[in-house]
Amino acid sequence: MIRVLSLVLIGFFSMAAFAKPAKTLKLSCEGPLVQGGFVICYLPPDSGTYEIVSSGNKSSALISGDRPALIPFARNSDLQVSLRHKTTNADEAPAFDPVFLNLQESKWAIERVDGLPPGKVTPRTPEQQKRVEADWLKKQAAWKHRAAASWYDDGFLEPVANYRTSGEYGSQRILNGQPKNPHLGLDFAAPSGTDITAPAGAIVVLAEPDMYFEGGLLILDHGDGVMSVMLHLSRLDVKVGDTVSKGDLIGAIGMTGRATGPHLHWGVKVRGTYINPKLLLGYKR
Ligand SMILES: [Zn+2]
Repeated sequence: MIRVLSLVLIGFFSMAAFAKPAKTLKLSCEGPLVQGGFVICYLPPDSGTYEIVSSGNKSSALISGDRPALIPFARNSDLQVSLRHKTTNADEAPAFDPVFLNLQESKWAIERVDGLPPGKVTPRTPEQQKRVEADWLKKQAAWKHRAAASWYDDGFLEPVANYRTSGEYGSQRILNGQPKNPHLGLDFAAPSGTDITAPAGAIVVLAEPDMYFEGGLLILDHGDGVMSVMLHLSRLDVKVGDTVSKGDLIGAIGMTGRATGPHLHWGVKVRGTYINPKLLLGYKR
C-alpha cells in the first residue's frame, strides 16, 4: 500500500516538475514610491538579460544580473503600477513574476511667474516659431541617444554648490497669467557665472548656447536611458561627445532663454518620463 502510494506521489511530483516552467527569478525593486519618483530594480547575479516594462510607461528597459533598471513614475502616474517581464511571444514563460507597487499621491504647488516678455510665453512671429521647431528637432534627436555608461554605483550630486531653490518639480505654472505645462525640473537660483558641475558621470549629447526658450542648454546621457537637461546657461564648458565625471565643471549659471532671473533648471528624463531630480540626489544602489 505504502509502495503504491509513494509511486503515485513520485508520478505526481515528476509530472508537476515537468509541467512547471523553469524557476522564476526574483525581481526586487526599491525607491521613492511617489508620483515623480522611481524604483531601481535588480535581478539576482548571473541572471540573463530581459526587457522590463511598467504599466505606466510605453518604453521598456533592459535588466540583467549585473545591470539594474531605473523605472520612472511620471508626475501624473497612476497610483497603482505593475512591473513585468515583457516577453516576445505568448508561449514564453515570464522570467520573473510581476511586481505590484502602490504610489503615494503628490501634492503640487501653483507657481506664478509674471513679467516675462510676451514672446517668450507664446512665440508670436513665424521666425520665433521656426526657431522653436528647429530647437525641438535637436532635442528629439538627443533624447534618442543611449549611452552604456552606468551611474548606479556612484549616485547623483547637486549640480550647484550654493543656491536657493527657486522652483520645485511638479508645480503648476502660470506664466503672465496663462496656465502652462507643469514645471518638470528643479530650479537652482545663484548669481550668473556660478559653476555648474555634472550631477553624475555622462556623455554630452547636446550642447547649444542659444535655444529660444532654453537659452544655453546641455543634455547629458548618464546611461540606461537616464538623462539630465540643464537650461539657461551663460557659458558651456563642454561639447557634444565629451565624457564627464560626477563633479566636473560643465558650464555656468545664467538667465538666457525664458528666465526672469539667473538660475539653473535641471531636469531628469528617463526614457521619455521626467522624474523629480531631488529624489535622485544621494541615491545609490
Ligand atoms: Zn525650471
